[in-house]
Amino acid sequence: MDTAIRYRRADALAKASDASWHEVERAPQEKVRALQQEKLVAQMAYLKQNSPFYQQKFAAAGVDFDDIKTIEHLQKLPYTVKSEVRESLAAAPPFGLHRAAPMSDIIQMQASSGTTGSPSYVALTEPDCEMWHEMSARCFFANGIRPGDMALHAFSMAKGFVGGIPVLQSLQYMGAIDVPVGADGGVDRLLRALADTRPRCIVGAPNFVIHLAEKAPEILGMDASELGVERLIVGGEPGGGIPVIRERMEALWGAKCCEMLGGTDLGMAYWAECDEQSGMHMVSMDYIITELLDPESGEIIPFETGAKGEMIYTALGRQASPMVRFRSGDYIEVLGMSCGCGRTGAKIRCTGRTDDMLIVRGVNVFPSAINSVVRELVPDTNGIMRIVADFDGHTTQGVLKVIVERGTERAADQDAYLKSLIETRLRNALVFKADVTIVAPDTFEKPGAAKVAFVLREFPDLP
Ligand SMILES: [Zn+2]
Repeated sequence: MDTAIRYRRADALAKASDASWHEVERAPQEKVRALQQEKLVAQMAYLKQNSPFYQQKFAAAGVDFDDIKTIEHLQKLPYTVKSEVRESLAAAPPFGLHRAAPMSDIIQMQASSGTTGSPSYVALTEPDCEMWHEMSARCFFANGIRPGDMALHAFSMAKGFVGGIPVLQSLQYMGAIDVPVGADGGVDRLLRALADTRPRCIVGAPNFVIHLAEKAPEILGMDASELGVERLIVGGEPGGGIPVIRERMEALWGAKCCEMLGGTDLGMAYWAECDEQSGMHMVSMDYIITELLDPESGEIIPFETGAKGEMIYTALGRQASPMVRFRSGDYIEVLGMSCGCGRTGAKIRCTGRTDDMLIVRGVNVFPSAINSVVRELVPDTNGIMRIVADFDGHTTQGVLKVIVERGTERAADQDAYLKSLIETRLRNALVFKADVTIVAPDTFEKPGAAKVAFVLREFPDLP
């Protein structure tokens, strides 16, 4: 009987010198498309049999499962939006009306890190888990992790987020070794584990990876760059793709930094940057169909260099929590359609989440972009900022209030100068008017296990 439990893929170690983890990553577009359409037909047949949620949704839209045979046919179907998923979860806990596999087949659950309300719970069958490992392994491999490497786990291990267990399992699957401390283990413990085990790679959120490096001299009595780390694999928040933040990480650690992107509903990660560092490739086209939605026109637009929009995902081969035309809320820009690494998947940069985007007098402003400008002004600032969105929703006709921490070495009598400097930079770089308040260093919490919430809903009490 071939029922041996395997944590590591049998041929993992033999892949160390391959050009990519899987050959599909380098397959010609036409071949990929044919494979996707074949798997799409199979997924539709699966949903027709097993998903009352999509049976209802398709019926309401007047579309038959058998009519969906090409990627373009997907445009006949409505989107699946997050509020719908939340309602479905509330109506039939724990995995919602959209669960499409028997409970007895489910072996794992994950939770999104949702910044508002309850997280979104996702169920995985054994084949679903294996698919997640495979997608993440392709990302880690593109990012520069190799079988046999050790990687310090600097995402949160607890709270059920995909940065925890799925990262560990995927590293194991690809033949790498996870150093399982986790951001929630604390900076001190992480740095000591790093100094003891000397892993080649670190996986974590960009702002936290910077924070770790900044703490190294105090805790270990040495610079982060002396610890022998060669690769920084970052994700979970924008930053890895923002030049000033990437340069800071690379300088502090003396290591190369590559980004990845995913989202709990579809998998831990399925976009990843290669050595060229020029945007994240789609590496899982045989498991996910991507469409690009222009939020202004409401049209699906082609993937071509310069195209911008919200990413729409349809899972292929997914059993327990399938998604069809899921609106991810990730706002991306296509940076290229070919690459020196040989991968054929479009290269993107995630500019921000459409949920986080603020509209200031008609201009789209992403909090991560403001963070990047403030980071550029280190050491005048210490790189830490908060936005005060003291208005309803995401739109204001007023001036946007931004609070910035003064640089540790700077004196308070320079605050007026610093305020005007930041306001000018923000106006020039992002085309909106800010009202900046300068505060002392360490006013706000440092980046830790949780994602940094850049936006406050009311002006805080300041010392
Ligand atoms: Zn590439």
